[in-house]
Amino acid sequence: MKFGGTSMAGTERIRRVANIVRRQAANGDQVAVVVSAMAGETDRLVNFCREANALYDPAEYDVVVASGEQVTSGLLAITLQGLGCKARSWLGWQMPIRTVEAHAKARIEGIDADELLASMGEGEIAVIPGFQGMSEDGRVTTLGRGGSDTSAVAVAAAIGADRCDIYTDVDGVYTTDPRIVAKAHKLKAVTYEEMLELASVGAKVLQTRSVSLAMKEGVRVQVLSSFVGEDATPADDLPGTMIVSEEEMDQLVENGDMERQLVTGIAHDKNEAKLILTRVPDKPGAVAHIFEPLAAASINVDMIIQNVGRDKGETDVTFTVPQADLPRAQALLEDRRGEIGFNRIISDSKIAKISVVGVGMKSHAGVAATMFKALADRGINIQAISTSEIKVSVIIDEDETELAVRVLHTAYGMDATEEAA
Ligand code: ADP
Ligand code: ASP
Ligand code: MG
Repeated sequence: MKFGGTSMAGTERIRRVANIVRRQAANGDQVAVVVSAMAGETDRLVNFCREANALYDPAEYDVVVASGEQVTSGLLAITLQGLGCKARSWLGWQMPIRTVEAHAKARIEGIDADELLASMGEGEIAVIPGFQGMSEDGRVTTLGRGGSDTSAVAVAAAIGADRCDIYTDVDGVYTTDPRIVAKAHKLKAVTYEEMLELASVGAKVLQTRSVSLAMKEGVRVQVLSSFVGEDATPADDLPGTMIVSEEEMDQLVENGDMERQLVTGIAHDKNEAKLILTRVPDKPGAVAHIFEPLAAASINVDMIIQNVGRDKGETDVTFTVPQADLPRAQALLEDRRGEIGFNRIISDSKIAKISVVGVGMKSHAGVAATMFKALADRGINIQAISTSEIKVSVIIDEDETELAVRVLHTAYGMDATEEAA
């Protein structure tokens, strides 16, 4: 069981969580619980680091930000004990959850779960702070923002759990963010592949890495709400959204439990920025000169467009990077102006990426055309396009994000009221 930040925000909510955990354990289940820091706490801690020194040491940043989860894991263990349950906390370095690679974005390599399993076997509920681990040299690490989802899936895999229930502040995965589109509807199931794509293009309900790990390890994941009363449908009856394999999805469709849709979900992401390099020489190697230094600096380039060459053998190159990396990307390119041979760098952070995702696209044409037409009808200009086998993404003006998501939700016939009609 994993409980997110909103679910853990304050002792009253932690009591509600403890009751959900107690009920699950009372079923006779052995339970491990992964918790997030209280909502807003990680942001607060990150700000302290920035205030202390803008160029903070990532290893010490990890020490600071991992503390949010330490607090909630202890509080949940205390609350469970108050309800008469046996419970104890297991910090990342105590298990340990072994991680590799960089601080602040560490990757879980393995979990030594023997002691944990022994304690669970004796009826003790294990409470594990999410987001944190231990580096090869014994220091505290964190997994990147939203990383508690990944902690939960990794623990589930390590202990061979029957299921990993991700409790959050919505009751499942919706066709799009239900806080933006009131007509979004909950999906009974979504495939790993679609969830992976949705998460990676901005549906923050699950961290991208948690989905790829669940897919790789075959962990059964359910997304469901912790904001429920005592009379709520038990988690074992699967009231939330199940993340399933394509074979399971085919089965659900065959049984009439799910309808086959061309588009499963729509996501948006306001965290990218666009760069245009003007008048780049239109010759072999020019693009390599631009992207090599960015790759060397671990700056992820998402969309790339090379415009039609102008006269005089020149062209404009447009691409997107994470907004947080924009200043670094600009500086790196400025440094190489001579080598690359561009005229100007134009940057724009006021953009949004809108993506439509669905495995149905593999076998059906026209999904992209519907998207372009629906946006055009509302006068929304498309600045860049990219596609994968099961996704179409476009870049638009940030101010048009909400409108675009709503228009597309309607265009693909996903509005809840239409479905009910
Ligand atoms: P937690 O703190 O529990 O980890 P998050 O805030 O990380 O919760 O994720 C839950 C939020 O994800 C929801 O409140 C919702 O606004 C947002 N969200 C974005 N896209 C979707 C979607 N397709 N389905 C459900 N929720 C979504
Ligand atoms: N507390 C961390 C964050 O806010 C991890 C998590 O909640 O998943 O990013
Ligand atoms: Mg989250």
